Amino acid sequence: MSKPQFTRILYKISGEALMGQQAFGIDPNKVESVVTDIVEAAALGTSIALVVGGGNIFRGVSLASKGADRVTGDHMGMMAIVMNALALRMEFEKRGTKVTVLSGLEVPQVCESFTQRGMVEARDRGDIIIFAGGTGNPYFTSDTAAALRAAEFGADAIFKGTQVDGIYSADPKKDKDAIRYEQLEHRDLLEQQLEIMDASAVALARDNDIDLVVFSIHETGELARVLCGQGRSTRVRAKV
Ligand code: UDP
Repeated sequence: MSKPQFTRILYKISGEALMGQQAFGIDPNKVESVVTDIVEAAALGTSIALVVGGGNIFRGVSLASKGADRVTGDHMGMMAIVMNALALRMEFEKRGTKVTVLSGLEVPQVCESFTQRGMVEARDRGDIIIFAGGTGNPYFTSDTAAALRAAEFGADAIFKGTQVDGIYSADPKKDKDAIRYEQLEHRDLLEQQLEIMDASAVALARDNDIDLVVFSIHETGELARVLCGQGRSTRVRAKV
């Protein structure tokens, strides 16, 4: 494998990526393979932090759509994210990889709360950092949390693992004429409403010169390959 092209990245893992073939929840085999890929990529020398989502367990909007309170639903969603972060932490620790979970939603009995100082300390120790609990605020998504933490972490890029190998003009699983893009700019995502991340996350990444790299979570070892400029991905460049 050649040298990585990124010094520091934020890897956004959706809750769905931990679900495997199940309809809901956490598949331990999937957690294992996701962590294997991250450990392999980190060994190349790139500093990696993770933001994990919670959609495999709970999404606040699903409760709100049935007439319940959105804020309580979002608190439940952020707790789901903390659960996923603990599953990932366990897997890293099993392998002896140093890891720190920092949560935007305070749950001090189970993990450290996010502070910039705590993040810098963990980063300087060389730990894999898992940012949990989203932004800690309702009405946001874990994509926006990824853009926020990427800026705070000083990431060159947000890596987003998805069901397919890049950004397409339409869902390639539903539309056989969908076009796959090699390279885009942030404004293309906003203007063409390409639904890869929500608009607030894209705008935050754009304003902080953070690239987006979209690739498939289903290819083993793809994270390391894409880090080295190989594999298949779409790169959204902040500076062209
Ligand atoms: N959430 C929130 N604030 C945040 C991040 C997430 O309230 O900053 C809640 C929201 O209810 C969301 C749920 O947590 O639906 C799970 O996050 P998300 O849907 O973004 O997870 P993913 O799609 O990445 O699995």
